[in-house]
Amino acid sequence: MLTLKQLLDNNRNWARTVTETDPDFFKQLASQQSPEYLWIGCSDSRVPANQITGLAPGEVFVHRNVANVVAETDFNVLAVLQYAVDVLKVRHIIVCGHYGCGGVKAALENVRHGMIDNWLAGIRSLRRKHNEELLSLDPRLALDRLCELNVMHQAKHVARTSIIEDAWTRGQDISIHSWIYRLDQGLITVLANSINSPADVESIHEISG
Ligand SMILES: [Zn+2]
Repeated sequence: MLTLKQLLDNNRNWARTVTETDPDFFKQLASQQSPEYLWIGCSDSRVPANQITGLAPGEVFVHRNVANVVAETDFNVLAVLQYAVDVLKVRHIIVCGHYGCGGVKAALENVRHGMIDNWLAGIRSLRRKHNEELLSLDPRLALDRLCELNVMHQAKHVARTSIIEDAWTRGQDISIHSWIYRLDQGLITVLANSINSPADVESIHEISG
C-alpha cells in the first residue's frame, strides 16, 4: 500500500508532467469548466470515469454512488443533475454500471446487509419484477443481468426527473445513455438506445444482454 506521503508526491509529479506538456493547462482549467458529459456511475474503485473513457480533468462532471442509483428522493444526485443540466449544459448523461457490482449483488441476495439495504431498495424491487428471468439463469449470469437491468432502470429515472423533462421542454439537447463496464476486460458495452426525448423512455430497448 502506498503511504499518504507517496500520494502527495504522486500529485506533485503529475502536476509537473501536465504543466511540462501544456504550461497553461491548470490556469485555463481553474478559470472555467465546460464538460459535455455527466457521468453517473458506481463508487467502485475499479471504475474511474475519466480513466476508462480517456477524458482529461474538466471534460466530465461526475457523480458516483453505490450501484449507480438515481433516486428521486436523493438530493445529492438531483443537485448534481440540476447543476450539470441547467448551469453546465451538458449534452450527454451517461449512466454506467459494471458487471459484478457489489451493490447489485447485495440487492440480489435475500440476506440482510444493514443500512445499505435501504439504499438498494429500488434494485431489490427491480429484482422482484424480473424474478422469473433471474431465477432461470445461472447465479453469476443472474447478477450480470440485474446489473444491466439496473443501468437501464436508472437511466429511465434520470429521464423522468423534472430537471430533464423541463430541459427537453425548453428545447435543450440532452441524450441519456445506458452503458456497462466489464471489470475483467476494461471494456464498456452500450446496453440500450439512448434516450433523447420523453417518447424514448418507454420505447427504450436493449441492444444486448
Ligand atoms: Zn458497483
